[in-house]
Amino acid sequence: MKQPNALLANTGTTIFTVMSALAVEHGAINLGQGFPDTEGPADVVQAAADALLDNRNQYPPLTGVPELRQAVAAANKRFYGLDLDPNTEVCVTSGATEAITASLMALLNPGDEVVLIEPLYDTYLPVVRLLGAIPRLVRLQPPKWELPRAELAAAFGPKTKAIMLNTPMNPTGKVFTAAELAFIAELMLRHDTYAVCDEVYEHLTFDGWKHIPLMSLPGMRERCLRIGSAGKTFSLTGWKIGYISGPADLVKIAAKAHQNLTFTSAPNLQRAVALGLAKDDSYFQALSSDLAARRDRLSEGLTALGFAVLPAQGSYFVSADFFFLGLGMDDVAFCRHITEHARVAAIPVSAFYEGDAPRHYARFAFCKKFEVLDEALARLGAFVAATRAGQLTPAARSA
Ligand code: PMP
Ligand code: GLN
Repeated sequence: MKQPNALLANTGTTIFTVMSALAVEHGAINLGQGFPDTEGPADVVQAAADALLDNRNQYPPLTGVPELRQAVAAANKRFYGLDLDPNTEVCVTSGATEAITASLMALLNPGDEVVLIEPLYDTYLPVVRLLGAIPRLVRLQPPKWELPRAELAAAFGPKTKAIMLNTPMNPTGKVFTAAELAFIAELMLRHDTYAVCDEVYEHLTFDGWKHIPLMSLPGMRERCLRIGSAGKTFSLTGWKIGYISGPADLVKIAAKAHQNLTFTSAPNLQRAVALGLAKDDSYFQALSSDLAARRDRLSEGLTALGFAVLPAQGSYFVSADFFFLGLGMDDVAFCRHITEHARVAAIPVSAFYEGDAPRHYARFAFCKKFEVLDEALARLGAFVAATRAGQLTPAARSA
């Protein structure tokens, strides 16, 4: 028989699914896949429930229900001073995942080059490749994850069509600075390129760090497709409502991709998200300050156990260096090992790289109840103690 699509056939199951399954198998606390363990805002959930019962359950418009498109445009204005026409410059999608694929589909032709920044979210590369485009990878280095400007400049060339930018960034928790964004914008103007801006963690920033959309920089309004996610903004990751904001000519094409991918997403969820985006500023402030407290609880606990925890200015995640344990394992083996033996699951940071990668960091999600974080730390504490006592090393077990 002829072979099906080679690229997808050779793509493994996503690490988030793999580690979540392993967590269930071992009764582990899941600090792997990034999802909160509390319900999103009650009024938003109630609005979705009510909206199921008001006889508007047939196909919503292709680019999203008008009230959500208006709410996305209003949020762009309120938070970033961006003026968008809700009728032509917003497209609602089934999660940011679809928005990323639709945006890349809208911009890329086979042979185009795309600049991507490692570590990167795991859907970017397969989509770029499926479209026949050529990835140009530029790597940030721990612990500071600063933008390597000379390398980034060298990755841009005459064939560069777009850069894929994720800020606040998964898995590093990095928030790109105004100066870094200005540098990217200058390269984009010099090389006449676009940007796909994955900004799903836009409202999850800490310690006074503010998210700046690349789209808000001079000359960028016409070149950026900016992506948000209700999953992250309202702690409702299962809803899969995303939105693309951008110039009308690009959003129009992204909407063509969307019409061929899913065409639309559940109308009740869209209407509830519209209500959520109109919440007052205190909601958004509480969302980030609450998460910052959870980040601190987990970071301080891991540090006390001996892990070298990297600072995170945003997102759901901290990365921790486990080298001090002297286990002689790479991050994939370590994350499996702690899922099994400490009964706490994490994600190996090398999953966010292609090929050679740092292999001594595990990513832990802190978007969990305090008592869950405390229990995870207690389990990890017992694990560290047992490891140090030589009871849990692979050598000790096989002896
Ligand atoms: N981009 C990044 C950086 C993510 O971490 C995630 C995962 N939540 C997504 C996109 C996907 O978002 P959604 O669940 O809205 O599809
Ligand atoms: N974005 C989530 C994470 O990084 C995972 C989303 C998914 O499992 N598709 O953990």
